Amino acid sequence: MSLCFRRLCLLLAFPAALIAQETKPLRILVFGAHPDDAEYKAGGSAVLWARLGHEVKLVSVTNGDIGHWREAGGPLAQRRSAEAAACARKLGVTSQVLDLHDGELMPSLENRRTITRIIREWQADVVIAPRPWDYHPDHRYVGILLQDSAFMVTVPFFCPDTKPLKKNPLFLYSSDGFQKPYPFKADIAVSVDESFEQKLDGLHELTSQAYEGGASGSAEFVAKDVPPANDESARRAWLKRRWGARQGGEADRHREALSKWYGAQQASKVRYAEVFEICEYGRQPSAAEIRLLFPFLPSRP
Ligand SMILES: [Zn+2]
Repeated sequence: MSLCFRRLCLLLAFPAALIAQETKPLRILVFGAHPDDAEYKAGGSAVLWARLGHEVKLVSVTNGDIGHWREAGGPLAQRRSAEAAACARKLGVTSQVLDLHDGELMPSLENRRTITRIIREWQADVVIAPRPWDYHPDHRYVGILLQDSAFMVTVPFFCPDTKPLKKNPLFLYSSDGFQKPYPFKADIAVSVDESFEQKLDGLHELTSQAYEGGASGSAEFVAKDVPPANDESARRAWLKRRWGARQGGEADRHREALSKWYGAQQASKVRYAEVFEICEYGRQPSAAEIRLLFPFLPSRP
């Protein structure tokens, strides 16, 4: 059957939303504050989207230039930008690191404009960022900037130099463990069992963070806890143990949410998960639309 005839059949048989999914890749944007946050929180889901031909970009809103116990400044920013790019290549996605200082991000008008332009230019269908309740001020302010942009991306005369979006994206929060003012709610739960190894391939590239501990690391940590740089397989196994516990914990904590999307039987077997909360600003999708936007979820539980 020719492509045109197939599209004509789909046009007659299915709603417009399904046609759009058939013909146009989804465009996903994941914001983090530092060049590792988006990768940690959504790297497995990013791989699943990318494998299906969808376009994913991971954006770090700061350059990470104080995110290490031993080094800082321009050279660290360059190192971390290169790490994020290498990670993105392993995940099959695009990476962008904004040149704003780590630890100094503010929810300013200038930054609201920057975030709005990035969302518009990417023509995002889904935008993910941290919640504005978090121990780190940069994480908090990325959450605020997401909220501040959630309506403005559609307003024609805000940043009129960049074409506004006609359709408001779905805005999501990545997960955290903070309880106040309210705990994270897993509205969407994704099994990343099928992409976990590839996510680890990506995280393996984030040496300054994954193996040197970033700002919280130390010479002692690197010497005593982490296998040496010349033993790749021991390092990789160590990384897998750490991330297996982390992502496995997400699956255990959010088994109920996994059941909603996968059914109880399949959900009980999920080992590793990534989870997202729907922001109440921006698009409020039905369950059917969420399955279109997360096409690796089963079509019904
Ligand atoms: Zn961070």
